[in-house]
Amino acid sequence: MIKKIIIGICFITLIFAAGSIYVIGTIQTTTSDLDNIITLHQVELLREHLLIEIKKVQRDLNLKDTRYARSYSTIVRDVQNMSGGIKICFNCHHPDNINKKLYDIKEHVNEYKEAISRVLTIRANSSRLFDEEDAAYRIGEELIAKVDNMILITSAKLEEKTQRTLVKIDSTKKIIFIVFLGSFITTMAVALFFIKGFTRPVKKLLDGTQELQKGNLEYRIEGLKDEFGNLASSVNDMANSLQEQMHMVEENEKRYRMLFESAGDSIFILEAEGEGAGRIVAANRAAEAMHGYTIDELLTLNIKDLSTQRAASEIPDRIRKALNGEKVKTEGRHLRKDGTVFPVEISEGLFELSDHKYILAFDRDITERKQAEAQFLRTEQMVVMGEVATGLAHEIKNPLAGIKASIELFSEVATLSGEERDILKMIIGEIKRIEALLKGMLNFAKPPKPDFSDVDVNNIIDTALTFSLKSAPSGQNSTAAIQVIKDLNINLPRIIADPMQLSQIFLNLFLNAVEAMKDGGVLTVSTSYNAQGNSIWIIISDTGKGIEKGFYEQIFHPFFTTKPKGTGLGLAITKRLIEQHGGLLTVGNNQNGGATFMISLPVKQKETTLPV
Ligand code: ADP
Repeated sequence: MIKKIIIGICFITLIFAAGSIYVIGTIQTTTSDLDNIITLHQVELLREHLLIEIKKVQRDLNLKDTRYARSYSTIVRDVQNMSGGIKICFNCHHPDNINKKLYDIKEHVNEYKEAISRVLTIRANSSRLFDEEDAAYRIGEELIAKVDNMILITSAKLEEKTQRTLVKIDSTKKIIFIVFLGSFITTMAVALFFIKGFTRPVKKLLDGTQELQKGNLEYRIEGLKDEFGNLASSVNDMANSLQEQMHMVEENEKRYRMLFESAGDSIFILEAEGEGAGRIVAANRAAEAMHGYTIDELLTLNIKDLSTQRAASEIPDRIRKALNGEKVKTEGRHLRKDGTVFPVEISEGLFELSDHKYILAFDRDITERKQAEAQFLRTEQMVVMGEVATGLAHEIKNPLAGIKASIELFSEVATLSGEERDILKMIIGEIKRIEALLKGMLNFAKPPKPDFSDVDVNNIIDTALTFSLKSAPSGQNSTAAIQVIKDLNINLPRIIADPMQLSQIFLNLFLNAVEAMKDGGVLTVSTSYNAQGNSIWIIISDTGKGIEKGFYEQIFHPFFTTKPKGTGLGLAITKRLIEQHGGLLTVGNNQNGGATFMISLPVKQKETTLPV
């Protein structure tokens, strides 16, 4: 481009120089022509002046001897002026032919002068004087004719020359105009060429940079040469490297996003400072699934909103620790959208992004771990209890049987009063309770292995229901007040299970339901088939007092009871028996009061659980 600019400037300069030289030359020629014309006019003036002087002398001659005759000195002066006039004519440079004519006139003037001088000086007779005067007059007239002729010819030539010069001036004007116009147009054209040569690539570069600015890193600037070409290739190189960098950043981001999204643990990014400390800035899909909120909903919450009251009270201390650079690892309890609580293991750390402090929190749902721990604890308890129960059974069972037999014998003594008999009955009742407790403990600690066979669950439910309603505990106000609704699926498939253990399960649950409805109520039993899991559902629902909030887990713990004479072993044994069948037992309260127990039992037993 620089080369082109230099060539362009040289071209314009050349055009200007040529134009200027031409114009200057033309002006000079025209000026010298004008000078020439002026000189010629001056010459013409001089000749006219000479003519006037000659005519004055001729007049002086004509007036001689008349009333108007001039004085001698005036005539002499006029003659001198005339000869002075012809001398002035020789001051100028003339071509040879003019010079020749001037010499001729000069001689004629001299001749006229001499003739006049003779007229003025002769003192002869009047006829000679008359001849001399006549001769002088004739010479004068001839001189006038010659000068006149010369003036005529010169002025004609002068006129012609003036016209020629004027035409020349006119064409010079046009040429100057054309030269200037041409130069102007050429300069404009060259300038336009360069402006175009600049604007087109500049526009292309501008478009390219704007495209890159918009984020279109695929865009490349093509078709530019010279310095613009170099600039374009630099911009393209920059775009290439930006694209590579972006690609790398995108890859990294994709990788981190994938890690973030596919993580099984909830990942939260929390505000670390200010009033909004703990506000959720980002959350992954696991957090969404774990807490039952959509990600958009989570982003409107603070981590405190997802924590139980106690866990929330610990959050400020955790944030403070994270801000001090400590890695926080703790356990807490989180709330789902539906209000249910689950245990979480929390790992938190601080990170900074664009001068802003955030907390990166990993929250792991440890429900299963906790359940496993509880199960482990239960198993431990059961082992201990099994040992205690066996020991007790050995140590207590026989003496207790002896005591019971002795008291029974003693109560038959005829002399005993009614009050004494009642006390002995009460002792026997309590001994029976201890025996039942011992039996339950043994049952729970060392449950007999299930004896699997092909069973009809609806049948077992029917029998257990009748029995449980008949053998309702003594505290019951009125068994008649209990309404039973049976919704047993007649197409329910037979399942592989231990019928005795199933009876025990249903009996426990029915008796609990009846006991929960001391003042009567509705006991609903329904069975259904779940084709998806190839299992059956048994749902036992009552309208009793329901499970106290917070006791959902405890009621399955051995010895947990809210009844004055309860053993707290019924649900623990039931759950254990159901699990032995590969099933599940869950509980929940009904909206209108009462509790619902849901049992799921597989239709077929796993190979491992079946007897060999
Ligand atoms: P127990 O009947 O000897 O108390 P269980 O293990 O059968 O022992 O029951 C434990 C506790 O669970 C009961 O004390 C009672 O508080 C609660 N419970 C069981 N079934 C129901 C029910 N249907 N409605 C209300 N509470 C129940």
